[in-house]
Amino acid sequence: MTQYAFTPPPVPSVAINNSDRRFAVRRIHCVGQNYAAHAREMGSNPERETPFFFSKPTDAVVDSGSEIPYPQLTQNFHFEIELVVAIGKGGADISVDDALAHIYGYGVGIDFTRRDLQQAAKKIGRPWDWGKGCDHGAPCSPIHTLDDTGPLSEGRIWLAVNGEIKQDANLSDLIWPVADIIAFCSSALRLEPGDLIYTGTPAGVGPVVVGDKITGGIDRLGEIEVSIVD
Ligand code: MN
Repeated sequence: MTQYAFTPPPVPSVAINNSDRRFAVRRIHCVGQNYAAHAREMGSNPERETPFFFSKPTDAVVDSGSEIPYPQLTQNFHFEIELVVAIGKGGADISVDDALAHIYGYGVGIDFTRRDLQQAAKKIGRPWDWGKGCDHGAPCSPIHTLDDTGPLSEGRIWLAVNGEIKQDANLSDLIWPVADIIAFCSSALRLEPGDLIYTGTPAGVGPVVVGDKITGGIDRLGEIEVSIVD
């Protein structure tokens, strides 16, 4: 048996709706600017360009109900509500037509972002990692299985801060739907069971402060809630 120099870190995981089992997370892939109105608010051209991807650290995933410590190095910590796709069957170069067969289920996630660090990195052509990779920065609701929900191509997606609606859109507004995202992502990296894909956020992103209660939801997937703490 392998002997480790110290106790290995716990396996990052998210809850599964109506199950005692948890979804072990291998990687977190994220899509940039997948709603036209959000691409515009980020100063980009929302034409249907090839989608682009970035990653968040796997151990950034936390459950709904978590307290998110306001992270270091930022004065502009932003929420981004997103549909999360949980991969249940691996593959490379997955076709759009075959994509559904690779989905385990869906969740409601928040891609928390140190916007000031991201913008500064963007401006000088450096990696976004520290903008997107903060601790506790990828909360996700319990995963609802594809068997329970059916394929999701439309439905309200929303986020509120202290009860005030900040983001309110529809999954049908996705520039690249889930099947296309799976096809693109798997053309660059082999997807494996345990991968999560955060599929991009609609318009209305904005900052949070210590004490804020963040709630969000997607039709058929229930809600997520987290609070920002010192
Ligand atoms: Mn995002």
